[in-house]
Amino acid sequence: MTQPSNNHKGVIFSGMRPTGLLHLGNYMGALQNWVTLQEDYNCIYCAVDIHALTTVESSEDIKSIKPNIEDMVLDWLAAGVDPEKSIVFVQSHVPEVMSLHTLLSMVTPLGWLTRVPTFKDKVRQMHETEETVNYGLVGYPVLQTADIILYKADTVPVGQDQIPHIELSREIVRRFNNLFGETFPEPQAKLTEAPLILGLDGQNKMSKTLDNHLDLASTPEETSKRLLTAFTDPQRLRRDDPGRPEICNIYSLHKIFSGPEAVKTVYDECTAATRGCVDCKRHIADNLNDYLRELRERREDLKAKPGYVQEILHEGGKKARTIAIETLAEVYYKMGLS
Ligand code: SF4
Repeated sequence: MTQPSNNHKGVIFSGMRPTGLLHLGNYMGALQNWVTLQEDYNCIYCAVDIHALTTVESSEDIKSIKPNIEDMVLDWLAAGVDPEKSIVFVQSHVPEVMSLHTLLSMVTPLGWLTRVPTFKDKVRQMHETEETVNYGLVGYPVLQTADIILYKADTVPVGQDQIPHIELSREIVRRFNNLFGETFPEPQAKLTEAPLILGLDGQNKMSKTLDNHLDLASTPEETSKRLLTAFTDPQRLRRDDPGRPEICNIYSLHKIFSGPEAVKTVYDECTAATRGCVDCKRHIADNLNDYLRELRERREDLKAKPGYVQEILHEGGKKARTIAIETLAEVYYKMGLS
């Protein structure tokens, strides 16, 4: 196992909230990139279960965290996240992150946290106000910063919408380093170039909450059945109405998962009204199922090994903790606590 700090490669930290089975949007938007990054960086991939607690609303939400971690990590491993190359672990298995969170909160002005755009969105989504929202949610970016810098990660893969979070982490790090001496690298955002995967509604980004998603782990039959429910060109009421592929989500999936020749055929036949939407959906379902076949087979193999995921997470937690303990000792020293 490569330890993140003992060679010249940069260190990547990235986390995902344990939402259970991952969908195609998660795969194309982040997971595929995680797999590639392993070649050039020492990567640390974390199931951020403490973050999940900031938005729990019921005991059911709490009960689902553990099985969700297992389902999600199985998807990671099936996609090609390699525990021989990367550290794969659960956030709460490294309690040092909570100590660092508390210490960083001493150098983080409240105004920095409440101005983060996603904070206001989350407060609204949870039907709370800035007076009633839990303190954990306000401090979310501080915990996120602790996640990153506890492992001295210098690079964080992000989508455009997460750039303000990384900018805030950089501000916290700058302030800490100014006050207590150079300790942490300022993490850099690494923008992920990924195609936008719309959900089956054809309107919104693919999302489990909106139930417009395609799970990676579904069977080919389930995937085909879900795809048949997808919205297409709403003006195409009959088979002999010419379609507008440029506004159809099934066409955008063809552009990703079918070859250039097939894409041209879809375009030509759709606009000439010689292709029906049901056939077009079956066509993309076959291609998508082919694309996901290996991942799904690997997932079944790994799932059949009793205790495999728990073992990976246990080993990953030990490795992460070794680094975390060292960093926290340095922080204690710099802050005059030891
Ligand atoms: S034929 Fe295909 S591309 Fe054209 S509207 Fe129907 S599903 Fe979309």
